[in-house]
Amino acid sequence: MGKLFSKILIANRGEIACRVIRTARRLGMATVGVYSDADAKSLHVAMAGEAVHIGASPVAESYLKADRIIDAALKTGAQAIHPGYGFLSEAPDFVERVEAAGLVFIGPSASSIRAMGLKDAAKRLMEITGVPVVPGYHGEAQDPALLASRAIEIGFPVLIKARAGGGGKGMRRVETAGEFADALASAQREAKASFGDDKVLIEKYVEKPRHIEVQVFGDNHGNGVHLFERDCSAQRRHQKVIEEAPAPGMTPEMRVAMTHAAVKAAKAINYSGAGTIEFIVDASEGLRADRFWFMEMNTRLQVEHPMTEMVTGQDLVEWQIRVAAGELLPLTQDDIHLDGHAFEARLYAEDASRGFLPATGTLYHLRFPPEASSIRIETGVRQGDTISSFYDPMIAKIVTKGSDRKDALELLVSALAVTEVAGSTVNTAFLSALAQDEDFATGDVDTGLIARKQGALTALAEASARSKALAALRVASVDEATSNDPWASLTGYDHFGSTAKAISLGESGEISVSLTAETNGAWRAEVDEQTIRFSPTSLPEALASAVIWPGHVTVFDGAVSHTFIARDPLDEAADAYGGAGSLRAPMPGLVKLVRAKPGFKVSKGDPLLILEAMKMEHTITAPHDGTIAKIAAEGAQVADGTVLVRFEESGGN
Ligand code: ADP
Repeated sequence: MGKLFSKILIANRGEIACRVIRTARRLGMATVGVYSDADAKSLHVAMAGEAVHIGASPVAESYLKADRIIDAALKTGAQAIHPGYGFLSEAPDFVERVEAAGLVFIGPSASSIRAMGLKDAAKRLMEITGVPVVPGYHGEAQDPALLASRAIEIGFPVLIKARAGGGGKGMRRVETAGEFADALASAQREAKASFGDDKVLIEKYVEKPRHIEVQVFGDNHGNGVHLFERDCSAQRRHQKVIEEAPAPGMTPEMRVAMTHAAVKAAKAINYSGAGTIEFIVDASEGLRADRFWFMEMNTRLQVEHPMTEMVTGQDLVEWQIRVAAGELLPLTQDDIHLDGHAFEARLYAEDASRGFLPATGTLYHLRFPPEASSIRIETGVRQGDTISSFYDPMIAKIVTKGSDRKDALELLVSALAVTEVAGSTVNTAFLSALAQDEDFATGDVDTGLIARKQGALTALAEASARSKALAALRVASVDEATSNDPWASLTGYDHFGSTAKAISLGESGEISVSLTAETNGAWRAEVDEQTIRFSPTSLPEALASAVIWPGHVTVFDGAVSHTFIARDPLDEAADAYGGAGSLRAPMPGLVKLVRAKPGFKVSKGDPLLILEAMKMEHTITAPHDGTIAKIAAEGAQVADGTVLVRFEESGGN
């Protein structure tokens, strides 16, 4: 065994930076993180042994700044750089600069990356190597008339692709010869804008296409293996949504053919490290060994690598590090086995019902299923963190493993049902609907599945009367948590007679809920001409599914959630005297120590309470002299913006 590095730098952010740090730590290596302004307080910075600020929030000013990243590695004494995925992971110039600085790049050589960097050149190379490629034109000449005549030869429909493409950009499906010229011009414009290169290739559009990719691995001693395949056919606009490993319906014959071709492709470029060979498969007549074609190679660790780890029992990041340090591949092909089935769902801050519009927001509430050997949560955020518009809005990858496909899929559905996010619009309900779609469930997937069923998969469910009632009860309980009246403890109150209250919620329209405390400690809610009762014993659990965050209340009902605008009467009262009479929580936190009571006269600067947030204590002091009218209760969890203290009106300014 060679000697591993003692310290590595991770040139990335988010979940993949956290993922790499975990393995590096387990292997006894020190870790260095890098971060932009927006990420100063992010999870990967907290997890790294040390972290270096590399610039402003936009990626071009930080995570793409090769020189600052290399400087950071040199300054901290890191010997190697792990690039994660995205950013500089497939930039051959970066690899050369890393090596010129005397550091090790944990990934393939610059020349391997270059060989696969452009889709047209990669296809030409694969043709020579004897790996089947998608029929089409991938020559250098780009005259529009030539391209148009090639398209006719190939036969419509065809797909125009930017040779420098990625993320589905610069890609156009063309149905007829008449539409070709316009589609070409538009693909070229997009390619030029995105990649600074407007050259294209043309491919036969594969019918009932499935995306099946093979994980390959090479070392610096000429060895190459595969770790089976993943199916990433569930896509929306060419982006992966739920992936799985192995591919459903895979036959032994097809697997041998695909994995053999993949290893051959990797060996053709002396590949070292983790790589993925993406194939497109014509599944119009099931999986057939003569109907798969090389699309491209990703010369890095893939987003969906955890599924492969689940079904092979290997740690691919460990393999990357060992191979980069000069070791042999940890296993030979005969020792790599496939066990069970895995799924990965990509939890995104996005609005599926509005064309998957990316969303931002503060994750005021974040709950994942507990991790276990059968469930992995790969995330780079914690409760209270923000999803900004600077980076990819992925919140987490939820990965499940079962003994078979059905098992793993059931586990995914139940994992999504207990995943709770409040503070941003998320795609949990869409993921859950897809996981439960009947074609998806039987493994009848192709890349057009989501688009065909998009309406049904992204339809917004109506909030039930029960959800509205819970939202109102939650608002009522928080509203009164700062006082001593019966509403302070909604559970089991039975001292005074019945107390009634009207709560109004906003959604698309105004929703009125009237709440009544009954003498036996039960609660009655009237909404939408329905009456819903919560017994004193059922209420706490029911209320736990409703979460307050600034100005809003979110109710979780399995994978579906409903967010209402909370009209907080206390806020309105505060606003009535210009807000000067109240003190709000500057951040979400826990009220630790309360030093004043209603009726107390306080002077400006007096400590009123201590708020614990992000493991730090913040003393909240009186902004002016006055008399306390209401103050938050000790032990209360408060959201950002919650009223902590109210002053008597006369005490203001
Ligand atoms: P990018 O690098 O932009 O992601 P890819 O070449 O990987 O582009 O293709 C992305 C997706 O587009 C594939 O996963 C597949 O769904 C679809 N696709 C690509 N080529 C074809 C083709 N020839 N026929 C049908 N669909 C295709």
